[in-house]
Amino acid sequence: MTSYAKSLQCRECGKEYPLEARYVCEFCFGPLEVAYDYERIRRAVSRERIAERPRTMWRYREFLPADGENPVTLDEGCTPLVRARALGERLGLKELWIKNDCANPTHSFKDRVVSVAVTKAVELGFKTVSCASTGNLANAVSAYGARAGLERYVFIPANLEAGKVVASNVYEPHLVKVEGNYDEVNRLCSEIAGRHRWAFVNINVRPYYAEGSKTLGFEVAEQLGWRAPDHVVVPMASGSLLTKIHKSLGELHKTGLIAKPATRVSGAQALGCSPISTAYLEGTDTFRPVKPNTIAKSLAIGNPADGYYALRAIKESGGAAERVTDDEIVEGIKLLASTEGIFAETAGGVTVACLKKLAASGAVRPDEVTVAYITGTGLKTQEALHGRLKEPPVIKPNLASFEAGI
Ligand SMILES: *Cc1c(COP(=O)(O)O)cnc(C)c1O
Ligand SMILES: [Zn+2]
Repeated sequence: MTSYAKSLQCRECGKEYPLEARYVCEFCFGPLEVAYDYERIRRAVSRERIAERPRTMWRYREFLPADGENPVTLDEGCTPLVRARALGERLGLKELWIKNDCANPTHSFKDRVVSVAVTKAVELGFKTVSCASTGNLANAVSAYGARAGLERYVFIPANLEAGKVVASNVYEPHLVKVEGNYDEVNRLCSEIAGRHRWAFVNINVRPYYAEGSKTLGFEVAEQLGWRAPDHVVVPMASGSLLTKIHKSLGELHKTGLIAKPATRVSGAQALGCSPISTAYLEGTDTFRPVKPNTIAKSLAIGNPADGYYALRAIKESGGAAERVTDDEIVEGIKLLASTEGIFAETAGGVTVACLKKLAASGAVRPDEVTVAYITGTGLKTQEALHGRLKEPPVIKPNLASFEAGI
């Protein structure tokens, strides 16, 4: 199969470029995005053809920008979409679903974007993959780079959670802790990218990387019986995931796979790093970059690269945005775990807590088919729960001690 991608295209001025490792427009400095031949895709795909394929995100390969006969994959994607009756009842929502992306190979949705980015990096002849990361991306680049037999340089803020550091380090990348926040790590990586011919998954191959997020929209539509949800609630760091879920539903319609979607797209952030939600709530288009201060470290991007486009997708779709405190995040994690049996990381706590606020304000309506995206596992961010859970009793191994102890 050859790729159905035809060019990289500037999101601002529309100028087209060949499918290389580049990410900004030379004319207007706008970001580049992959453009496809949708007519060809429409002729190649059908619901039946997709349904016959293996249950990984590569079943939507026509919509991904890799020639990809041999993708670098760990069978990511096709994660559970579960009906959340108990949580829905608590929040006053009649049809709530959880897309549980903890169930990916390195336990976050970043496996989707990295599978595409590393596949493309191999195609483009790179021998080294690299990234600036808030944690989950580091895990995925370390793992997928190992699988592809590539050198890996992975840069993280020095204060990341222990679970996120180990879950990179075990794959033996060149792991570098930088004394600074993500935005500073990212700036450093942009300078390194100018000197070394490495594929930085979220810098020079970012247009390809970002496309992997679309599969979170494709899957939900297929799992709902080939229909778009009425409302989705998505956690935002750079804002890329939200914009791509929005884009994905439009693509399914353009290629004849679903009816015209009217999905409202809402965004979730932590109050301690909420440049996008704050711009929405204050009704402005201009972002004030912030210095992050929140337990939701995976979302702690103070200067979001796709913030403007995320805000536009939210407004155009009739969605909303919310922000929540660290306490609300912890409550969100516990609420999801105790009602649905799903242990999310801090970003999931942000999503659930924001959903709760959106439902209470009426921004998410009771009768909407609503999907909340849970993008990473709680086992990597255990620090967030220290001192916040009931201590289990310790007893002697005999019946009397048990009866006395409970
Ligand atoms: C990276 C990340 C996000 C958001 O990603 P963006 O595309 O940068 O907005 C959401 N949840 C988790 C767990 C992440 O690691
Ligand atoms: Zn341009």
